[in-house]
Amino acid sequence: MIRTHSLTKRYGRVLAVDGIDLDVREGDRYGFLGPNGSGKTTTVRMLLGLVFATSGHVELMGHTVPRHVARALPDVGALVEGPAAYPHLSARANLRLLDAAGPAGDRRSRRRRVEEALEEVGLADVGRRPARTFSLGMKQRLGLAAALVRRPRLLVLDEPTNGLDPRGIREVRDLLLRLNAQGTTVFLSSHLLAEVEHLCTRVGVLDGGRLVSQGPLDDLLAPTGLTVVRVGDPAAAAAMLDGVVVRREGDEFLVARTSVDELTRRLVAAGIAVQGAWPQQRTLEEAVLELTGSGSDEVARR
Ligand code: ATP
Repeated sequence: MIRTHSLTKRYGRVLAVDGIDLDVREGDRYGFLGPNGSGKTTTVRMLLGLVFATSGHVELMGHTVPRHVARALPDVGALVEGPAAYPHLSARANLRLLDAAGPAGDRRSRRRRVEEALEEVGLADVGRRPARTFSLGMKQRLGLAAALVRRPRLLVLDEPTNGLDPRGIREVRDLLLRLNAQGTTVFLSSHLLAEVEHLCTRVGVLDGGRLVSQGPLDDLLAPTGLTVVRVGDPAAAAAMLDGVVVRREGDEFLVARTSVDELTRRLVAAGIAVQGAWPQQRTLEEAVLELTGSGSDEVARR
């Protein structure tokens, strides 16, 4: 759905995006992660032909961008930084206008598609109000509705939950899961690790303009080799596990060099109740912090 090859963007002496090879496949919920200033927005804009690459190649739905971007756009819904809307027009009118202005769509179904998009993002009740009276979260929802109105096969969303409260974030997550289950490929940029951890199947991690990791989320969260165990008698367990405990928090121990099975067997044999034992996995936060190190506002200047 999206492929880039050595995609690079330079702003004067700032190398904002540094030779990245993105690979977003059909059916993915792809999370494009990176600290502030790592180049996410610049990349998203290049994918959509809104910013010209300095060098490299972009293919969107099989079409070369920017040359043939118009061929790809009817199948792509996009929300890029600060959704734009005519402030004096209602949400409904904005969506109809946008649909009419875009690549040739089915005019007869416009009214229905607009209503459905408003419904999906929870704006159906306020669809008549002028957009200027909308809160930031409502504007963000309107931007999402605009991305949805054409029922795209691919959604490209730059920080889609910006400005939303926790309930709004959950609603957007549920919406994206629903759309994805119906066949829409989702590409979203975010610096919110929890959002990506809950939603995405594949991730790309950007740091200082470079793609430092790309692959299935599960690979990134691979087990650390340590085992977590929760026991009924922590004092007895602490004595028994002396030398292999990496960390202890109350009745929970992080243990090195012992598998789940072996640990359970030894504890139970010693008469210590085991309430749970599992291989420790890295959180996405830990994985990304490891990968991104210094922080990206220090973009490589060459
Ligand atoms: P954030 O999460 O803060 O939005 P980002 O990952 O989207 O950050 P970009 O906005 O793509 O990062 O910026 C990447 C780098 O390119 C930054 O150093 C930024 O200052 C620089 N940059 C972006 N746009 C321009 C521009 N129009 N002119 C000059 N430099 C720019």
